[in-house]
Amino acid sequence: MGCQASLNYKRTHQRKLEHWKNTIKIKVDKFWNEKTLADVENKSSLTFLNTSNLEPNKPHHVWNVKTTPNDLNYLKAIIKARVMTGTYILQADKYKFTHYNVEATCQLCCSGNEDVIHFLTTCPILSTTREKYFSEIREIITYEITAEKWNNVFKNKTAISQLIVDYKI
Ligand SMILES: [Zn+2]
Repeated sequence: MGCQASLNYKRTHQRKLEHWKNTIKIKVDKFWNEKTLADVENKSSLTFLNTSNLEPNKPHHVWNVKTTPNDLNYLKAIIKARVMTGTYILQADKYKFTHYNVEATCQLCCSGNEDVIHFLTTCPILSTTREKYFSEIREIITYEITAEKWNNVFKNKTAISQLIVDYKI
């Protein structure tokens, strides 16, 4: 094999290798993406995680905070991540984890079980704080997608809770 032929062989081999590596990477990413989405659908603890925001090989958007630890945005990201992954402990969780030795009732209003939906959408004690921000969020999104679409997409408190904790701009 001459020098030029050898060089051409190496280049062709290199291209084939790169193509093969890309093909493998695409297949592996596709597999893990599909497996992750299927796992999320089957886990009730991930109810508030919006799967359309998941991107393979990238950290969840909640971690796109350019702050330092102890900064309020960093602390918000931690709380959101815990709510999304079902590891933010509310009274209803304590009730289950202590085999019913702790009341599930919300300690703020004493009128309902304190789960994520109660905490984010229905607790009357938090309604003033909630409405202040939620009205603004609803207004901005309705302006973008129309009121009709808002009513279709956010038709229940689970969808609204997911919007609050896992909204990507
Ligand atoms: Zn309450």
